[in-house]
Amino acid sequence: MSNSYPPTLPVVIFEHSNKFVPGGQCDCDCDCACGLSTATSFVFDKSVLPRIPELEAASFSTIKLNDEYTLCFGPTCQPTVVNHPALDLLIGLKNHQHFSLYAHLSKIGGEICAAETIQNLVQSGLLTLPHQTLEASPHTLTAWLHTTDRCNLRCIYCYLPHRPEDMSKITGDETIHTLFSEASRNGYSKVKIKYAGGEPLLRFETILGWHELAAQLSAELHLELEEVILSNGTLLTPEIAASIKKHGLRLMISLDGLGAAHDVHRHFANGRGSFEQVSLAIVIAQQAGLSPHISVTVSTQNAHSLPELVAWLCANKLHFNLNFARENLYYAENGDQQILIDGMLSAFEVIRVNPPNESILAGLVDRANLAVPHLRTCAVEQDYLVFNARGQLFRCQMEMSGNPVTTENKNILNSFRRHSNPINLPVNKKGNCKTCEWMYWCTGGCPLLTYRLNGRSDVQSPYCAVYKSLYPESFRLEGFRLLAKYAEQQ
Ligand code: SF4
Ligand code: SF4
Repeated sequence: MSNSYPPTLPVVIFEHSNKFVPGGQCDCDCDCACGLSTATSFVFDKSVLPRIPELEAASFSTIKLNDEYTLCFGPTCQPTVVNHPALDLLIGLKNHQHFSLYAHLSKIGGEICAAETIQNLVQSGLLTLPHQTLEASPHTLTAWLHTTDRCNLRCIYCYLPHRPEDMSKITGDETIHTLFSEASRNGYSKVKIKYAGGEPLLRFETILGWHELAAQLSAELHLELEEVILSNGTLLTPEIAASIKKHGLRLMISLDGLGAAHDVHRHFANGRGSFEQVSLAIVIAQQAGLSPHISVTVSTQNAHSLPELVAWLCANKLHFNLNFARENLYYAENGDQQILIDGMLSAFEVIRVNPPNESILAGLVDRANLAVPHLRTCAVEQDYLVFNARGQLFRCQMEMSGNPVTTENKNILNSFRRHSNPINLPVNKKGNCKTCEWMYWCTGGCPLLTYRLNGRSDVQSPYCAVYKSLYPESFRLEGFRLLAKYAEQQ
């Protein structure tokens, strides 16, 4: 092997700061879960030399980026760009061509090069030790607190009937106590609360009270706490933004386009568009020192305008995720899926020429998390509790117009996990998905949408064809982003 090996040094490029760990949840107006991880902390020093012969090449797929570089990605490694020598090395190991890795690398680049290359390959997950654990226990219990049904907007894809109903202070307090006791009893290390509505800023003062209680319980029970307000942005003032910042809360704002492309989705009850107020809210939030997460809902009505929106988001250094509009009791998406594909691919082109500093794979294509391999699309029925304004429990916020889940008082999560009609199957239980090359990143899409449209959960998403068109391009985009960053550092 070493004789045929080109004498060029191997290059391995990946996101060192990327947290390749379970629970990579974003601040979107939905939920996500990441149950698989192979995070490893292999630190190279001479004492690990005897273990190097045990290292194996992980299972990975490749996407060619140009004549020199290839992107590798797989269920146990993070997206990593390698040059020819590094790829040849991995393929050699994959094909069980036994050779002394360290001696070989030392010969072509010296001992420092050998150590760095091996460490990089291990940290990216492309080299693994045998029997490395794939399953990691989830550590975050997420709750959706439906603070009010009221909203000043009438977005076309909203799944709520907009009744004038608020969560009372007492109900919210009880809900937070329940949440923390469930988290503590079930061994979680972190609680994440999403304050949602309706429009939660209509309840901002009350939310601050719930935040105080959550912070107190978090300290008492030694549970980490993360809180995010999911807002339409129209009611944000400099005072509220400053208070959100002061209390350490996060903010998500929905923005679906620039101008008319946003207004076609999101308008006030009187029909007037909300873009002006929402774009102002983003400025206010940034001036207050917040980094609002922007949630973009994509439908066939606004897909054509995604390139302009994405260019604006990149220029303003805003984190965002692109989600497809979900069908519900009040909204049906009957458009041509090719419109979605075309709009998304045009947006990707914009990202390609303005590569962001950080990976955006976690939120680029609907509910897929392309950054972290996992088994389920979201934490529904597992690590996720949705409380409506009356404190009743649901699996997903989009089921709140139906009947609540009947729970065992002793252990609410058990009731969810033993639901008589489970919808959120792991991807390896979904017929077409379990042989799909994208299974560990896609995991079959939103399980509720699949169930609603097909009457069963063990099949692929209605967006499957869209996903399959977009996933390779998403990974290619990440490859080019990594290459651009690497070039900057040279
Ligand atoms: S929904 Fe389609 S793309 Fe996604 S895992 Fe299933 S078969 Fe693959
Ligand atoms: S079931 Fe669908 S809508 Fe509900 S949390 Fe999961 S991905 Fe989101």
